[in-house]
Amino acid sequence: MDTKLFRYVQIYDVPTVCKNCGSVLVYRGLGEYRCEKCKEQDFDNYGKTRNYIEKHPGASAVDIEKNTGVSKAAIREMLKESRFEIVEGAKSFLRCEGCGKEIRSGRYCQECEKDIHLRIEQQQREKLRENLHGYALNQGGQEGQRRFVRKK
Ligand SMILES: [Zn+2]
Ligand SMILES: [Zn+2]
Repeated sequence: MDTKLFRYVQIYDVPTVCKNCGSVLVYRGLGEYRCEKCKEQDFDNYGKTRNYIEKHPGASAVDIEKNTGVSKAAIREMLKESRFEIVEGAKSFLRCEGCGKEIRSGRYCQECEKDIHLRIEQQQREKLRENLHGYALNQGGQEGQRRFVRKK
């Protein structure tokens, strides 16, 4: 995985595998994902924070962290990208890291973001194929306890 993609996945904590059935989650936009098989919904850090702020306008970073599990560092990073507005006033201009187009918020323009998610989904499909046995079967377990079965 290249560093840009890795950083994106890290900040947004992009969910790639369905918690319910272990299939690939497909990006739907605005931080929302849906399982291509069972239609289970999931959210990345942006989606979680966005949902929370919608219900609790004016929430502080501490509130958000406590109630969504999104780290303050991730929230800070999203604020830096103008993902959320904290002050009214002059908007800074941002440029897409992928193609350089002017954007109002975030890190990438819509097209580049779509492209990134296609790559993440593609990588996840390959990973699932490689670890078909070990990976998919242990989906229900805790992250740290996930066991991988090596093919003989
Ligand atoms: Zn599913
Ligand atoms: Zn772009």
